[in-house]
Amino acid sequence: MIKFENVGKKYPNGYEGLKNVNLDIEQGEFIAIIGLSGAGKSTLIRTINRMHDITSGDLTVDDVNVMSLSGKALRRFRRKIGMIFQSFNLITRTTVIKNVLTAFVPDMPWYRSTFGIYTKEEKLKALEALDKVGILDKAFFRADQLSGGQQQRVALARTLAQNPQIILADEPVASLDPVTAKQVMDDFKRINKTMNITILINIHHVDLALQYCTRVIGIRAGEIVYDGPASAVNDDVLKQIYQGGQEETA
Ligand code: ADP
Repeated sequence: MIKFENVGKKYPNGYEGLKNVNLDIEQGEFIAIIGLSGAGKSTLIRTINRMHDITSGDLTVDDVNVMSLSGKALRRFRRKIGMIFQSFNLITRTTVIKNVLTAFVPDMPWYRSTFGIYTKEEKLKALEALDKVGILDKAFFRADQLSGGQQQRVALARTLAQNPQIILADEPVASLDPVTAKQVMDDFKRINKTMNITILINIHHVDLALQYCTRVIGIRAGEIVYDGPASAVNDDVLKQIYQGGQEETA
């Protein structure tokens, strides 16, 4: 369970990225975070794995105070949280399978990581992860030979190989065409349902958020202005979230 209690995040320049955030997130939820550009969506999800430090309030994951972690304990904690980015972050000049295998590097002794030596078990786990996202047949292709949607699936497989409890996805479909974006959202949904992994997605496309996610968190200028079921998001709610902005809301 992820719990935010009166969480604030002030950047070093004094800007308040998050203000008084209160959230209870249960294991297995599939949540969309929506809001204008600069509203604080990315800041919010990045506090969960400590890519950003909160500056007030309490943030706990499974009753562990995230801000109390450091060194080895922080590294171990981060391993149960997968992160997916808009830009996929793959090593494009190498094979798909080698990209997925990098998920094991943090747990490997230095000589294995230096020489890229993986165990049979690790290789099988990597292939299994590729199978889960439907691209097992691409395992020995170079990553840059794949389409954008397939590359995002490689990133998802790499995260799954890590056996995560939580996946944080920062605009995972923003650079994909509408059809491919839906396919990637289908993958997230399936993974969420079959593996009970908690998924938080920052997403620009409100229509996809409402179609795929069960819960929506609307954020505006660092404050949560809506937190409820996707089915209850109506025009008034959207107005509240996007008020003052120029963005397309549907
Ligand atoms: P979103 O993901 O909703 O587009 P962000 O979480 O990236 O928004 O940013 C929220 C606000 O925090 C923005 O106004 C942004 O300019 C500001 N911000 C982000 N990172 C920093 C930083 N390192 N220093 C100061 N302000 C920042």
